[in-house]
Amino acid sequence: MAQGFDAYTPTWCPGCGDWGIRVGIKTAFTQLGLDPSKVFIGFDIGCSGNMNDFLNGYAMHTLHGRSLATMLGTKMANHEMKTVVIGGDGGLYGEGGNHFMHACRGNHDITAIVHDNMVYGLTKGQVAPTAEKGYKSNSTPAGIIEMPINPLALAISQGATFVAQGFAGQLPQLIELIKAAISHKGFALMNILQPCVTFNKVNTYHYYLEHAYKLEDSYDPTDLKAALAKSAEVYEEKFPLGIIYKADRPAFHEQWPQLTTNLFSRERHTDFDEMLRAFV
Ligand code: SF4
Ligand code: MG
Repeated sequence: MAQGFDAYTPTWCPGCGDWGIRVGIKTAFTQLGLDPSKVFIGFDIGCSGNMNDFLNGYAMHTLHGRSLATMLGTKMANHEMKTVVIGGDGGLYGEGGNHFMHACRGNHDITAIVHDNMVYGLTKGQVAPTAEKGYKSNSTPAGIIEMPINPLALAISQGATFVAQGFAGQLPQLIELIKAAISHKGFALMNILQPCVTFNKVNTYHYYLEHAYKLEDSYDPTDLKAALAKSAEVYEEKFPLGIIYKADRPAFHEQWPQLTTNLFSRERHTDFDEMLRAFV
């Protein structure tokens, strides 16, 4: 959907929610004072992946749905890097749904920023896993038969320790949420409601202005049952914005014996020969 391409501008459609998300991510990185040489970003396939060329940091454009699996590997290889995954609902909840579930279970120290627009925008608007049952698209002219994925409930129930939802049209709050997600130790889901202005004529900016709302100040994100109840509001077409769930548990790499007590701990072993001798 390229329009107005130049070397410095992503090829997103004018008005796409990705523009707001891009500003949100850049601003959050800047305000957190992240060193670009200490950030590693895995991009999934899709319109969101177009950001790969426009964010300063180490980055990799992975295969369809494989960004989380790839970045779990890089995090284990170098757990000192701030590791972020940027993808769409199609890539991370559909093609990579299995990886998503297990990244949550492991509480891997990764922030997954998901552009949730209910369609596969890059390939012309086929229906994606978060679309409401009955949603009509070119690939489902009579409406989608399956029930939608509930990403917030899925992440919470599978062990993610930070789950937030933002809206691409609500930038000040989105920046704060992305900063909180990136600062969290453990698996953080930052689900962003992102209107695809070209292919999704249902979930528009106007739709979210009517159906999304900021969480009340009194809301307690450490209450698991309350978080699951908030996640279920999507079935009433209500979209809470804010930190839905937060828990404090050790991340995967903090519990992995090979890193904490044994061979590959950087603190314990700097001598490669010594590491080799452990195997013979
Ligand atoms: Fe265009 Fe939709 Fe892709 Fe945005 S998500 S660039 S509006 S096709
Ligand atoms: Mg999508």
